[in-house]
Amino acid sequence: MEKVAISIDNDNFTNIEFHASEIFRGKEYPWNHFVKKEQRIEIIKNVLRTLNDAYQEIKIFACAVHKNSFPNEDPVLKAFEDVSSRFDLYLQRISTDKKYKGLIILDKSTYEQGLQNLTKTIREEGNQWGNQLRTLCEVPLFVDSKASRIVQLADHIAYSVFRRYEANDINYFNEIESRFDKHEHFYHGLSHLQLVNPHCTCPACLTRRTDRK
Ligand SMILES: [Zn+2]
Repeated sequence: MEKVAISIDNDNFTNIEFHASEIFRGKEYPWNHFVKKEQRIEIIKNVLRTLNDAYQEIKIFACAVHKNSFPNEDPVLKAFEDVSSRFDLYLQRISTDKKYKGLIILDKSTYEQGLQNLTKTIREEGNQWGNQLRTLCEVPLFVDSKASRIVQLADHIAYSVFRRYEANDINYFNEIESRFDKHEHFYHGLSHLQLVNPHCTCPACLTRRTDRK
């Protein structure tokens, strides 16, 4: 990702923060220097493509929540619970003689209000975390995405999933689809929480229906 940042502004690359929706909008520096939308789409894809060179062990997890299906629930909290439990199960699955421990790091600048509520819930129910998610070794930590390329990459993964489900735009999603945690052809790394379409053909819904047969 540093290489991608250098290609954007060689003199100021450490201050380049990749934030997919800002890149796509192209309103602010340095994204306003890329006048064509196609150029900015390519930058988002280049960030996602850094996963191509990553270790095979690196897996991604995401959850898409259809908000209207769960009108009385906080979608951010719902997605967080879903993703963290999948991550926990993944660590249990790969733990053999070696026990793996997990750490969850959150971007504190995104969905600020939602995450504030989430923090409150985590604080209030802090003692339960160890019981619910057995592999976690610490409460979730919040970091400034400016300081962390990995959090910026996570933002792009979230954006790809958002575009896939919200706008049927599979451009970004296709770049990362093979990286979702999969086991025996089952997509554990991706879930689609919705109650409106029993015939949804997204990879997450499809894999679960096939699994039940
Ligand atoms: Zn689906």
